[in-house]
Amino acid sequence: MDTRKEDVERLLVNKYPGLEAQLQASGSLIIRGVICSEDIWHRLRLYLPQYPALDSFQLYVQEGVEFKIYTSDNLKLQDEWKLEDLLDNLGKILPAKKAETCSKKQWPQENIYEDILALHKSKEFQMQIDEACSRLRFSDFSDYEQHYLELEIPSLRLVDHSLPECVPFGEMLAKNAGSLEQILTLYRKLLEELRPFYDNFMDIDELCHVLQPSPITTKHNTRVFPLKDRVYLKLTIGDPFACVASMALKIIGPTDEVARLRHVLSDGLGNWDSELDIHKNLLRMFDLCYFPMPDWSDGPKPDEEDNEELRCNICFVYRLDSGDVPLVSCDNPKCVLKCHAACLEEWFQTLMDGKTFLEVSFGLCPFCKAKLSTSFAALLND
Ligand SMILES: [Zn+2]
Ligand SMILES: [Zn+2]
Repeated sequence: MDTRKEDVERLLVNKYPGLEAQLQASGSLIIRGVICSEDIWHRLRLYLPQYPALDSFQLYVQEGVEFKIYTSDNLKLQDEWKLEDLLDNLGKILPAKKAETCSKKQWPQENIYEDILALHKSKEFQMQIDEACSRLRFSDFSDYEQHYLELEIPSLRLVDHSLPECVPFGEMLAKNAGSLEQILTLYRKLLEELRPFYDNFMDIDELCHVLQPSPITTKHNTRVFPLKDRVYLKLTIGDPFACVASMALKIIGPTDEVARLRHVLSDGLGNWDSELDIHKNLLRMFDLCYFPMPDWSDGPKPDEEDNEELRCNICFVYRLDSGDVPLVSCDNPKCVLKCHAACLEEWFQTLMDGKTFLEVSFGLCPFCKAKLSTSFAALLND
């Protein structure tokens, strides 16, 4: 890439995000957009046929509905000036009363650039603008480092964000926020309101062996982790703004265990301690000191993909593209079957023999024909 192009783009992105540059094949440079100088907004086009020199420049500044043309004949530049000096001093060298007519009061639609500049120095978050000046990305929010927000500019259309997928953030924006400041205020208010949601998952993510999702992101509202051998707990928070009220817990495992633990679960929900977080309540409920964690004491964490014992007995893979791992086992404690819920469902569907189909529809293991827990359905309906 042309270093002259890099230089000018770096200057504009860092200092004048409302301007964009175009380097012509002939070597001349065109800059256009809006710039704030001496507290006044100017819309301009600047032609520099001999860039980086400013010789023979043509500067068009919008005044009212027309562009006024400035050249070396009517605008005095100092000999040693470079592009940056010209932009920095623009408000000083343009005739004052003419510039007044371009004041921000007459240009409400340009407030977006003013807003961006106002946010540029915030310590509460990082702000980046892409090279084309068409996207704004906010990240590293203080206290919420993993979070980010991406908007298209100047339309302020939502491009991406880090809030849970089940939160209709796009709709909320459309209803409640118009300006950039309002969007940021709403986003940060939501982060604050979601603090209990993320706090509840924090201990689970650290102190349970979360198998799904992988990797865990700020967008996920479910966790699947082992409760005991062959038995898993699936926790879903339906409404991140009302964690405990909207929480759903499902047990996945052999039929007898699931039936027994469902009783434990319903008793436990009746004795919920609102002073404790979800992780501590679950430990209390299942009378555990901690949830099972893999034993990595023998060395570094092994690669789960390489461990043949962990693989699905139907597709011979550990983690599917969907992120699912084999969690379904058989009611027969001697049977080795371990498979993905999706693979088992597919297996059932592809059996052509009507009789077998009837059998498996009652939940019989494809390996040993013992009963197969139907609790795996909880893994399928996400
Ligand atoms: Zn599989
Ligand atoms: Zn079996």
